[in-house]
Amino acid sequence: MRSADFFAGAARAEQLPPAKLPEIALGGRSNVGKSSLLNRLVRRQSLARVSKTPGRTQQINFFSINGTWVLVDLPGYGFARVPAAMQEQWRGLVEAYLRNRSALRGVVLIVDIRRGVEADDALLVEFLRHHGVRVLLAVTKIDKMARGECARRLRDIRASHPDLNPIGCSAVTGEGIGDVVRVLAGWLKVSLTSEGDDDE
Ligand code: GDP
Repeated sequence: MRSADFFAGAARAEQLPPAKLPEIALGGRSNVGKSSLLNRLVRRQSLARVSKTPGRTQQINFFSINGTWVLVDLPGYGFARVPAAMQEQWRGLVEAYLRNRSALRGVVLIVDIRRGVEADDALLVEFLRHHGVRVLLAVTKIDKMARGECARRLRDIRASHPDLNPIGCSAVTGEGIGDVVRVLAGWLKVSLTSEGDDDE
């Protein structure tokens, strides 16, 4: 992908930018590896650092990709130390975004292969399903596990969530990233490969 630029952050629903291009959102628990996957997807080592700067971790961050579509980084959830009031704020903001965003083509939900789909993730899936939003389950950090164990866990996740099309991937080795990109391209109905890309 040729260019990726941060252009807006929203800490409150009123700050959500108008949707001018198709959007794909990335969501997951805090520390699941969302930033690493985002960087890998758009091939910008430091892109997601933007989302990690103080004051931005609790907001929805918008990145324009090649000027043709928008990658939306949802704030991580499920962090035990976050007070209830902030969890409510997260819910309000993220739900406001997900509920009526006609530009939204789908959500990539990221889970850690070692933890699978947890209660918080399942709630988000239920919400998205209710609002008719497509979900792709990216099961990341597969490099952390032996092949056989990895295959077994992926099989289990597939069996319990057949509609989420789980894809095993790793931001470290790049495995599975091409498969995720292909699904996103299908959602956007464009080719996301470009000169210089090698694993798509
Ligand atoms: P975020 O909080 O969800 O954005 O998570 P980060 O992308 O910051 O990743 C959290 C931690 O997991 C960091 O220490 C990363 O280096 C590590 N990490 C992320 N993705 C992978 C992966 O695919 N494999 C391995 N082994 N570690 C990863």
